[in-house]
Amino acid sequence: MLREALKVILDVQELDIQMIRLMRLKWEREGELARIRSLRDDLHHQVIAKESEVIDLKKQIRLAEVDVSELNTKIQKLESQQNAVKKVEEFNALTHEIAAAEREKAAKEQRLSDLYDRQAAEEELLKNLKETFEATKTNSELLEQEIISSIVAINQEGSQLKEQRDQMQGDADPEILVIYEKLIKNKKDRVVVPIENRCCSGCHILVTAQHENVVRKGDKMVFCEHCSRIHYWQDHLVEVSEDKTTRRRRRSTAKA
Ligand SMILES: [Zn+2]
Repeated sequence: MLREALKVILDVQELDIQMIRLMRLKWEREGELARIRSLRDDLHHQVIAKESEVIDLKKQIRLAEVDVSELNTKIQKLESQQNAVKKVEEFNALTHEIAAAEREKAAKEQRLSDLYDRQAAEEELLKNLKETFEATKTNSELLEQEIISSIVAINQEGSQLKEQRDQMQGDADPEILVIYEKLIKNKKDRVVVPIENRCCSGCHILVTAQHENVVRKGDKMVFCEHCSRIHYWQDHLVEVSEDKTTRRRRRSTAKA
């Protein structure tokens, strides 16, 4: 009978709803895991980028230091040349040349001093970044472990539910089951619902009196015109459960 068939589907539905909730929870937790990992990877990339910046700065500093020392040598050479010359014009020319080299050296030294400042600042940043990265790594490892074990628990619960459902499915009317499964796959929500106060309790839209009567009769499947859910009459299921209880009671009395 339809009532009994729907009762089985309703039991399957409760398991499916639990499963849907569980899957949502799992997606959420997997999302958290992905966020934690990407945050950590992001920090790691920042550390690597900063490290190569510092290395690059050190190279620039070394080059600038070489430039300054070459200019020093040049100036010394020019000065000793100047000491050796006899002619005023040559002496003056060398004075000019020395002054130019001194200016160049001053500019290089200024640049070098800026580079030293930048190096100090970047090294400080790198140190902070590394500390943040290490702290995040430690924290995220704990959090990750926690999330992973909760996912394991979700999976276990899920396979228990699936086992229960597989067993229950055997009692279901195959034709109704196919329709039901198609519906719940689309809606990810209850799709076999009662009519309450003349409304579909799935989409909450008013049904016609005629529609309600057909459902009330309970001898054929009725779908909501608005949301396609399968409708049932609440009292029918109470009757089905009572029937089962009475039968069980009768059986146990008979045994005794
Ligand atoms: Zn509806």
